[in-house]
Amino acid sequence: MAYHCVVCGDELAQVDTVAVCTFCGHETPSKYLCSAGHHICEECQLADWPQLVERVCEGSHQTDPVSIVNLIMKHPMSIMHSPQHHILVSAAVLAALRNNRMRPLAPGRLASAIERTKGIPMGACGTRGECGAAICVGTLVSILTSANYQKDRERSLALQASAEALLTIAQAGGPRCCKQSVYLSLETASIFLKRELGIDLSVEPRCEFDQVNEECKKERCKYFVH
Ligand SMILES: [Zn+2]
Ligand SMILES: [Zn+2]
Repeated sequence: MAYHCVVCGDELAQVDTVAVCTFCGHETPSKYLCSAGHHICEECQLADWPQLVERVCEGSHQTDPVSIVNLIMKHPMSIMHSPQHHILVSAAVLAALRNNRMRPLAPGRLASAIERTKGIPMGACGTRGECGAAICVGTLVSILTSANYQKDRERSLALQASAEALLTIAQAGGPRCCKQSVYLSLETASIFLKRELGIDLSVEPRCEFDQVNEECKKERCKYFVH
């Protein structure tokens, strides 16, 4: 029976070696490798979703957060549309800012960003007008400005960041696509960080899921390329 790489789809060859885990970047024993050298370590296989998001963001060297979220969304436990997407955006942008040497990443900051955004329930876009990916943009701005409920401008900026991301997602039309919401939120974050905080983080969304997403909006989505 042939196994296939979760990252690129290539057939896996049985090996007995040490390889860099594609997800967390650690060198670990590997029993299977694809021709491109993709490998998933045991800890990244056993991690729960928030742990996995943290592991990938922690180990990433990517400067575009789109590459970081696209890798996370290729993990075997990733579900095409799910609340898993609610905790990706702020963590991926914080990692990309570190990788671009634009902002340091303090220990525990990824975990706290994930913790802040993980309570938003499934389908909240339709049931209460909220989207976890959009709220991540407010969370991100809150973290970068050290906002809290007693602050003045910082609090307003966090609220405005979430609001702008929500508006962008609303204007893209439905039905929901969690991939599209993540990309739209990343683009909104990039525009907002540049305009309000002078942080010039480049974000270039490319959807790598349109071929496998049975509910893809195709021509109705600006990220549809095929
Ligand atoms: Zn591969
Ligand atoms: Zn790993």
